[in-house]
Amino acid sequence: MSKLSGKIALVTGGARGIGEAIVRRLHADGASVYFTFNSSPDKANALAAELGASVQAIQADVAQADSVTSLVKTVLEHSANTAKRIDILVNNAGITKDTLVLRMSESDWDSVIDTNLKGAFLMSKAVCKPMMSQRAGKIINIGSIVGITGNAGQVNYSASKAGLIGLTKSFAKELSSRNILVNCVAPGYIDTDMTAKISDEQKKALQSSIPLGRTAQPHEIASVVAFLASDDASYITAQTIVVDGGLAA
Ligand code: NDP
Repeated sequence: MSKLSGKIALVTGGARGIGEAIVRRLHADGASVYFTFNSSPDKANALAAELGASVQAIQADVAQADSVTSLVKTVLEHSANTAKRIDILVNNAGITKDTLVLRMSESDWDSVIDTNLKGAFLMSKAVCKPMMSQRAGKIINIGSIVGITGNAGQVNYSASKAGLIGLTKSFAKELSSRNILVNCVAPGYIDTDMTAKISDEQKKALQSSIPLGRTAQPHEIASVVAFLASDDASYITAQTIVVDGGLAA
């Protein structure tokens, strides 16, 4: 039997990048996967069509409370014929609005915090109730190494990702008595649209500072998420697992 057979997973921002790799991996491991898209309907529909009936795409904006409430309601109603529950939540959706602090506007700050940090709060809160009545659940937040190290030009983004580490620990402590395990994965530099903007020269310099000598592919984050989502990680909670090729060591 596959490791996640019979499990119901919800992944935010699953149409592309790391989220897409997570959707593919959880599906391959046997889970039924619901994933959200916000501005990428074509990619989302193509992915759902490729993977078949056990993978469904739903439009949602994680920064909007109403949208999150209706998303979770839809998933619970839709999964009613198997079991009215959500076993795994992956808070992956995230954005950057990078600039030096003197040029950073209030809206650059607000939009990044709202999507990356408030979004994870709203989503985690919304799945708490079903997970508490199930007396089981896994919540996995996608943080970032810059939430630990900080980074020039990313005051908003690194604050949102540092906040996710605190949110992870606090949710984990609050929900542990109901057997809900909450962890964070902190990637280093992964090849996706988010990092496509940097020049080849910058990329070479970055690669030379990574002990493994290369950037990573999205599936290398998805495999850690799949591990945390599985029973193999039944005694791990409140942790942040760094997946950065040794960059921040
Ligand atoms: P991408 O830019 O490739 O994808 C971002 C995803 O987030 C998209 O699926 C997008 O959906 C979704 N999204 C953005 N805003 C919202 C919103 N308001 N509501 C719902 N979904 C939203 O990024 P990555 O795949 O690179 O990043 C995924 C996660 O990994 C992020 O949290 C990021 O911070 C983190 N990360 C990435 C690293 C990297 O090097 N790439 C390093 C460390 C962390 P849509 O396209 O439908 O709008």
